[in-house]
Amino acid sequence: MTSLRDLPIDTFIDALSIPCCYIDFDGTVLLWNEQAETLFGWERDEVLHHALPVVQHLEQALETWSPLLLQYPFSTTALTAFKHKNGSVVYATAYLQTFSINDVNGYFLAFLPKGFGPLISTEQFNLLHHFQAMIEHSTYYLAANARGEITEINPLLCDLIGAPDQQFIGRNWFELIHPSFEDDPIAGVVRQALTTDQIWNGEMPIRSQRHVTNICWLNLTIVPILSEDGEIAQYTAFGFDVSDKKRLEQEVNYLAYHNDLTGLLNKKGLLRQYAHSLTDVKEHNGLLHVALFDIDRFKIINESFGSRVGNELLLQIKDRAERFLPQSSVMFHPSGGLYGILFFEQSKEEVFQLLRQLQHELQRPFRIYHHSIMLSISIGCVFYPSATNSLDELYTRAESALFKGKRIGVGTIQFVTKDMDDAFSRQIHIEKALYQALEEKHFYLEYQPKFDLKTDKLIGFEALLRWHHDQLGQIPPSEFIPLAEEMALIVPINNWVILEATKQLKAWQPLVNHPLSMAVNISPNQFRSESFINTLRNIKQQLDLNPSDVILEITESLVMQQTEETIARMNQIKRLDYRLSIDDFGTGFSSLQYLKSFPVDELKIDKVFLDDWMTSKSHLLDVIVHLGKSLNLHVVAEGVEDQIMLDHLKETDCDSFQGFLYAKPMAPDQVVRLLTNNEI
Ligand code: C2E
Ligand code: CA
Ligand code: CA
Repeated sequence: MTSLRDLPIDTFIDALSIPCCYIDFDGTVLLWNEQAETLFGWERDEVLHHALPVVQHLEQALETWSPLLLQYPFSTTALTAFKHKNGSVVYATAYLQTFSINDVNGYFLAFLPKGFGPLISTEQFNLLHHFQAMIEHSTYYLAANARGEITEINPLLCDLIGAPDQQFIGRNWFELIHPSFEDDPIAGVVRQALTTDQIWNGEMPIRSQRHVTNICWLNLTIVPILSEDGEIAQYTAFGFDVSDKKRLEQEVNYLAYHNDLTGLLNKKGLLRQYAHSLTDVKEHNGLLHVALFDIDRFKIINESFGSRVGNELLLQIKDRAERFLPQSSVMFHPSGGLYGILFFEQSKEEVFQLLRQLQHELQRPFRIYHHSIMLSISIGCVFYPSATNSLDELYTRAESALFKGKRIGVGTIQFVTKDMDDAFSRQIHIEKALYQALEEKHFYLEYQPKFDLKTDKLIGFEALLRWHHDQLGQIPPSEFIPLAEEMALIVPINNWVILEATKQLKAWQPLVNHPLSMAVNISPNQFRSESFINTLRNIKQQLDLNPSDVILEITESLVMQQTEETIARMNQIKRLDYRLSIDDFGTGFSSLQYLKSFPVDELKIDKVFLDDWMTSKSHLLDVIVHLGKSLNLHVVAEGVEDQIMLDHLKETDCDSFQGFLYAKPMAPDQVVRLLTNNEI
């Protein structure tokens, strides 16, 4: 523990510029500062080693404080009446904390008199709060005059710096700052703080001969001491060594911003260090290109050769790439087998060439321990200027180019083209707008009629979601639904759809004297969400609707995932009496085995099979219709655009159809006209 021998504690306590004192548990005064003299009229010599005279009933007060301070080591009293030497009453708030100096336990008291100039500042309050810690930990002490010339320095600090005190006296104390930080804003910040006669507390790098390999950091509290006319007369500084903590912080920091294997910047580090460079590049009309490259199937290499080989490979890749890349470029390493390069100064064509060569270079065999390993490398690259303004977004674009390339095949180089760039911007725009659309109710529904194949009669509708955006115009569901799905916005949107569509159905059914159904598209996430069953239950109860008039369309691909749970959920829905339909049938990979076990009522044959029949008269369509019928399902054909198609369907067992030939999706008022005019 730190010794207080070298600390002029009186100076410290005087420096607080707030009336304060230190008493032992019996109430005997051990320290009494100048401000307390002024406030209460008692001189230091009069009170030291006597019972604290300012408290009315000292014994009683001590009894009250002890349990209080046991619980809260730092406490504040309400405004209390204290005694002045001349018999008058001094009202003040007292700040109290338990405290020990040289093994003497006691209370530290600071008094904030009523009407005391400016209220206590946060710094002062904090200082009071940390008083104990400061005294305990302060090992180093120095004082300087108003010009910042050192007037006093304690032996421990001299020892830390490694020179006798005479060398320091008269020198500016800013010279103590570690030379490698001389240009650092830290000195400026401190100077600035001190000119406003505020207390400054912070960490400062100090020259020290005792710290050879690392830098010595002191946590310093610098207190300006004011003369009677309010001018700064002196600075006192108290400090303790935080080098170890600082080093740990730096290590943790390093790990957060670097790849721990290669030591290259990771994505977070890259963005932190280079985010501003985009601004510079923009200002100077410069170039900046971001490329990401990935070892194809790195996971497999790692698993088959072991992580020792995998790690060595990653290090060798770094070396090989760094030797090859131009000086001006920056290599980084986000994770595993994924690396990146920031290209400054090179033209697009040069980058293009460089990436080709880099790929070639990295696809030459690596010799690792006794293995020879050949890799294939995929690359994604984005050029700046681009439609984006942040390094983060450039990174994301390079990433999606990389993944797009990987979908085509391994070993690809994919550049973000102008089209991709624009599409990307649009996507980001749409993502932002989606939240708003939901809040501001910019969604609406259109309804596409569905007809019976035998009678041509209207039998129901499919509700289709629409979104009109003020600037982007009409956005097709195929564009925004996948985004909403990704952003978890689809559940609230879809819940709104089903509620709205069923309300309409309820309103329209009385307009005709035959049954009408409503089909609603259910997204996979909605289907899986817990709230979905509740929504269905509520609709059934509140709308007083026959649930079998409502058809829930789920896509075939959903049906194929998690079959056990899917079947359980389907049964739950069936118990509520809703009808279930498999949408886009034929495009997924349903096995017949599964199809038989699903409690579904309907199959919607995807338009591709109709198109197929139209172009090649293939039998596939008939086979699928037959399949559906043999499973006892209602079969719907989607996307009928042509009379020849319709005529053919009429010859099959298909039950109903939808399509532009008879009707496009329409607005509700159009539906009402259709129903009331008996047009169909
Ligand atoms: P889907 O469920 O297969 O819907 C049928 C799509 O085919 C609709 O496109 C419809 O306008 C279109 N269509 C109908 N008849 C014809 C035709 O004769 N020819 C052609 N070429 N197209 C026809 P839309 O409205 O653009 O919807 C696209 C997809 O968006 C829907 O495909 C569905 O998967 C999804 N979707 C629409 N509304 C919702 C919704 O409320 N929730 C969810 N989760 N998805 C929806
Ligand atoms: Ca559908
Ligand atoms: Ca469909």
